[in-house]
Amino acid sequence: MVIAVIGAGMIGAAAARHLTQDGHEVVLIGPPEPQDKSTHHGVFGSHYDEGRITRALDPWPFWSRASRASIARYRQIEADSGIRFFHETGTVMAGDEDSPYIRRLCQVQQDQALPCDRLQGDELARRFPFFQFDPGTLALFEGQGAGHINPRALVRAQIRIAERAGARRLPDTVLGLDETATGLRIRTDQGDVLASQVLVAAGGFANMILPQPLPLVVYARTVVLLEIDAAETARLAAMPSLIWLEPDGNDPYLLPPIRYPDGRTYLKMGGDVVDVVLRDTQDIQDWFRGGGNAAVGRMLEAQVKARMPGLVVQSAHVQPCVTTFTPQNIPALDRLSPRLSVAVGGCGRGAKCSDELGRLGAELALGRNLPAWAKEAAVPT
Ligand SMILES: Cc1cc2nc3c(=O)[nH]c(=O)nc-3n(C[C@H](O)[C@H](O)[C@H](O)COP(=O)(O)OP(=O)(O)OC[C@H]3O[C@@H](n4cnc5c(N)ncnc54)[C@H](O)[C@@H]3O)c2cc1C
Repeated sequence: MVIAVIGAGMIGAAAARHLTQDGHEVVLIGPPEPQDKSTHHGVFGSHYDEGRITRALDPWPFWSRASRASIARYRQIEADSGIRFFHETGTVMAGDEDSPYIRRLCQVQQDQALPCDRLQGDELARRFPFFQFDPGTLALFEGQGAGHINPRALVRAQIRIAERAGARRLPDTVLGLDETATGLRIRTDQGDVLASQVLVAAGGFANMILPQPLPLVVYARTVVLLEIDAAETARLAAMPSLIWLEPDGNDPYLLPPIRYPDGRTYLKMGGDVVDVVLRDTQDIQDWFRGGGNAAVGRMLEAQVKARMPGLVVQSAHVQPCVTTFTPQNIPALDRLSPRLSVAVGGCGRGAKCSDELGRLGAELALGRNLPAWAKEAAVPT
């Protein structure tokens, strides 16, 4: 039985690893990251970056559980692949102590007995002198098993292990699927591929492939990369990843200094205030080619400077990305037919837990049922 995984991104690469390591015959189909995004006319991924925040803490049990399962496997994946991707700098989540978000976070932290420090006032200022918080802020600091991962490196690691275990990699772009009496015909830009089972893990492009579209909403996102010099990098050596809740409900996030492939060191900040919906494949491609929104970049830079007074920035650059949401605010992990399953919809937080999301997708492709927790929506009731 050949199992085809479509999408060699965060979830697809993880699914391919789980399936091949369990002894199944796997073909992983998807193109690599384009060299020049501005002239690329194919599909794109949401993991073309060097930093994604990781943490077990989340206001919703589904995300916390999927993240914990994945984090527990990071070091093994690093050891098996020889590729390092996890940086245990710790993560802070902070906001008004009376806000529903922080109350929910505290509830999950208690219910799941997640080890973390609760910091306020002078203690918070002493612990993280480079941040400035409003009075009344409660910060939850996860020092272990949290920080940031390199999403490109994690994808490379998953694919390396899968290929060593026998997975076949095709760099094709899938154009559509046809169910036949004996299996599925996958139409790609290079020809047809036949498989007995297909798992679609194509992120924001999933509806380009599926016979019936899923109710996915794809948003345009802009991040700003703030270049810092060696002195600032040294001053911020103990900086954790940070997510904070604004009074207006937005929850921007900031990553500590990370060295990028251009040899420079950047702080990365994201958190668009306005949700711009990308309606179709063409819209998503145009957005990625366009390079991001400079006005959003300026707003994000101002937010970082307000949160980190005295920060010295050498240069600022914006980058585009997309996030893919489902109505339940958890990924669509479903069997659409006896031969076709999906694992899509990272909902802006699918990187850290992509290994578990891939594992759950692999379970579906093998015809198994998922545990009840994997269906628990992350929306207020
Ligand atoms: C700016 C930004 C910041 C984020 N920050 C965080 C964070 O701090 N922490 C966190 O946990 N998550 C974060 N996320 C979310 C996380 O990056 C995504 O949830 C994750 O990448 C989703 O994984 P995926 O496999 O579904 O999609 P992707 O990683 O996008 O992979 C999909 C793959 O499918 C391929 N593909 C698409 N169409 C086709 C096709 N037709 N044929 C073949 N292949 C195809 C693509 O090439 C791609 O490789 C962030 C996202 C963004 C945009």
